[in-house]
Amino acid sequence: MSSVEMIESPAMADSRRAMEVCNACRYCEGFCAVFPAMELHRDFAAGDLSYLANLCHGCKGCYYACQYAPPHEFGINVARSFALLRQESYAEHAWPAPLGRAFARNGLVTSLAMAGGIALVLLLTFLLQSPGTIFGVLPVTPGAGFYLIIPKAVMTLTALAAGLFAVLAMGMGLASYWRASGTRGWSVKDLRQACKDAASLRYLGGNGHGCNDKDGSFSTTRRHLHHLMAYGFLLCFAATSVGAFEDLILGWPAPYPLLSLPVLLGLAGGIGIIFGCAGLLWVKLQADQEPQARELLGADAGLLLLLLLIAATGLLLLALRGTSAQGVTLCVHLGLVLGFFVTMPYSKFVHGLYRFAALLRNAREQREAG
Ligand code: SF4
Ligand code: SF4
Repeated sequence: MSSVEMIESPAMADSRRAMEVCNACRYCEGFCAVFPAMELHRDFAAGDLSYLANLCHGCKGCYYACQYAPPHEFGINVARSFALLRQESYAEHAWPAPLGRAFARNGLVTSLAMAGGIALVLLLTFLLQSPGTIFGVLPVTPGAGFYLIIPKAVMTLTALAAGLFAVLAMGMGLASYWRASGTRGWSVKDLRQACKDAASLRYLGGNGHGCNDKDGSFSTTRRHLHHLMAYGFLLCFAATSVGAFEDLILGWPAPYPLLSLPVLLGLAGGIGIIFGCAGLLWVKLQADQEPQARELLGADAGLLLLLLLIAATGLLLLALRGTSAQGVTLCVHLGLVLGFFVTMPYSKFVHGLYRFAALLRNAREQREAG
């Protein structure tokens, strides 16, 4: 046994054993991208397994179809093995590494980041502002409103610092994963194919009949909810970008009227996130627990809950404009956003980036295989 094999994790060893059995069996080759990609390999190095794990989207179709699944003595459960390996890849490539280890599989740390963010923003606001300002009814006029509670410079610099940290940490993590998983040698055509597969959530469609979201029956619920959440997030990002551009570049200060582009984009995005996250949480909790990696449930649910709360408090803030509840709602919302920025590079949120790298390698390998 080589030294690499000696130090590999149980999830890595289990995934390798599963792929060796699957490569001999090949019953599931039409289910998703994983099995055709697996068939191009005879041996599975750590980088190959990490790539295959991130190509898997956890539909559980192979579990319900498998004659070697538990209680068979082989105990093949690719969905579970790959879920654990994916989580390991997030922690292994996280930057800085100690933070990655702290967040690994830990829903409690996500909750603490939420609570810590809220507490910090509330505490600083109460230290810097009088109760009359925090609980007062403030004018909803450009340059006033929530800027009277948290000054524009403080809000902008904090958002910039937290955002840059998250982008840097996720960029470092992705670069490390990119190298380790062998994502190289791709062409523009491969990039186009990967973008198309990612934007349409192609494999969550299960060739039209959907996935095994909750049990052995097929459904497209998870795919639709995932679309709602992901496009809702992109709309909120667009709303923030347009708002920042209008405020900082064009000199049109927030808050904006209800019928303005930043507010309408944020409204549509917030509704998408709330329904998408609530639905995904419901599917996750209702689903047959057997094929799932139950030890990851807390961290996954924590991230969905955090996104849902950010969207809900964002919409609440819009509804409570010009009332005495605006100040505290703003602090809670910004605290949650701060907690999200800290959590983002170490949570399942990076799955989108790692999965894109896996789709890109897959597009290249399938093209080369003809
Ligand atoms: S999951 Fe089971 S049925 Fe599917 S290819 Fe692997 S061993 Fe065969
Ligand atoms: S869980 Fe779904 S996506 Fe993952 S390997 Fe099995 S069939 Fe493919």
